[in-house]
Amino acid sequence: MQNLIDKTFIKPVESYWIATTPTTNYPALSENIKTDILIVGGGITGLTNAYLLKKEGFDVVVIDSGRITMSTSSHTTAKITSLHDLKYSSLIKQIGTDGAKKYGEINETAITMIEDVIKENNISCDFSRQPNYVYTREDNYLQKIEDEVKNAEALGLPATFETSLELPYSVKGAVCFHNQAQFHPRKYLLELANAFVRNGGHIFENTTAIDIHEDRECKTSTRNGFSILSAKVIIASHFPFYDGGGFFSARMYAERSYSLAVKANIKISGGMYISYEDPTRSIRTQPLEEDDQLLIIGGEHHKTGKDNDEKEHYKNLIKFAEDNFKALEIPYRWSAQDYTAMNEIPFIGHITANKLNIFLAAAYQKWGMTTSAVSAMIIKDILAKGKSEAEEIFKPSRFTPVDSAKNFIKENLDVVESLIAGKLDPLPEDISLEPGEGRALMYDGKKAGAYKDMEGNIFIVDTTCKHLGCEVRWNSAEKSWDCPCHASRYSIDGTVLEGPALKPLDRLF
Ligand SMILES: Cc1cc2nc3c(=O)[nH]c(=O)nc-3n(C[C@H](O)[C@H](O)[C@H](O)COP(=O)(O)OP(=O)(O)OC[C@H]3O[C@@H](n4cnc5c(N)ncnc54)[C@H](O)[C@@H]3O)c2cc1C
Repeated sequence: MQNLIDKTFIKPVESYWIATTPTTNYPALSENIKTDILIVGGGITGLTNAYLLKKEGFDVVVIDSGRITMSTSSHTTAKITSLHDLKYSSLIKQIGTDGAKKYGEINETAITMIEDVIKENNISCDFSRQPNYVYTREDNYLQKIEDEVKNAEALGLPATFETSLELPYSVKGAVCFHNQAQFHPRKYLLELANAFVRNGGHIFENTTAIDIHEDRECKTSTRNGFSILSAKVIIASHFPFYDGGGFFSARMYAERSYSLAVKANIKISGGMYISYEDPTRSIRTQPLEEDDQLLIIGGEHHKTGKDNDEKEHYKNLIKFAEDNFKALEIPYRWSAQDYTAMNEIPFIGHITANKLNIFLAAAYQKWGMTTSAVSAMIIKDILAKGKSEAEEIFKPSRFTPVDSAKNFIKENLDVVESLIAGKLDPLPEDISLEPGEGRALMYDGKKAGAYKDMEGNIFIVDTTCKHLGCEVRWNSAEKSWDCPCHASRYSIDGTVLEGPALKPLDRLF
């Protein structure tokens, strides 16, 4: 009999959120246009900003390089919460009690804002209020958990300490934030896009922004040869496609993680859970018809492009689901990446201190469901009222404090190391591949990446990343070429999938 890992691997990688929703069909931009506000990126950040700004009365256009909501926002676990791991103890040290309080308050407001939007627009997206837990199974981390509860409570956040969770294993202790939420992110976002268009907004798909020229107005040029003139541009492209002198490549890094949608023998009535220690295990339920449920189980994070066998991460999660929840079937599995700023506070606001017409919202450290709503509230307040109460905390042009310098140096040394190691790695010239296999090799005297598909077609690309020239590496789980330096990702034929690169890899064969 086939085991669960083999049965799961027969199916292609596919996000549950995408598999259970329709596709979109907005037109591509086909002429030069003018608007008040251009938003680049149609994920949760772009669409939430678009919705609020349109309601505020601005003329708003959203463009996306592919189809909207097909990227990170539909590869998430979609917990809507202000409990971002054990954030508050470190925020108090970094930005003081007032700053940490504001961070907590605006993220709590974000949950209510999402709920209000759902009610206002009658959106059916499996939204439900749930408690959210960060737990530890190790004595070593108990003190950290207790400190987080104390600190969060003192900031006025809905925190309690718990030892008894509805999980099939015991924990030493957990921070619980009450009255948090979960939803089906793509059901929500497709309806949010519809509401935006109903209110008079415009969406263009298959329209990639490649540069912004800032004069009295911003002129954004697109790959299909047209341009958009706007008073303001909001960059919601996950990794900023335009840097504006903010050096974001050196100030944020990407980590991938893996998710499963599991049919299991052991069911839980609700709650959202994540372990503090590694290997991270994230768990929530997703309701199905007739009182049935899926468990969404995630974890296994690692830096993008820095792993030797990505498939191993799926195997570890499947084993966890089998051992602990008696998993029966895994109909869906997917992986994705999110960016983190060096001091672990997202970038929201004017992209740099002297580019006041260009805004950035990015680097959410895998907490983008609330943080995207936070970005929308802050940017709307700046544009409509000239100021936001919370803007100082998230300012992309903030002075990098000493406590993030350690991360800054470590991450950038890591980039240099990856760049050099990639160039020195000796590679075989043997081009014989099994169907479904991809690997780096020498081709025509050049470092190359080759992949053979199941029909026997061979694709060979130059592995030099088009962003800053590092060597991309094979990702066996997603069948993609991933850059270990700044997380650009390319398909087997070199097409850009995501990340900072704007041009495809050169195709050699
Ligand atoms: C595995 C995983 C689990 C997660 N779980 C949670 C969770 O439980 N709770 C939570 O709060 N957060 C979670 N997150 C984080 C959250 O999913 C992300 O922070 C969020 O989805 C980012 O949204 P976005 O709109 O900024 O980016 P995206 O959804 O990636 O959207 C960016 C869009 O910009 C477009 N684009 C890019 N470049 C261009 C260009 N040049 N021109 C035009 N368009 C462009 C892309 O096509 C894309 O559609 C998780 C993340 C991961 C990876």
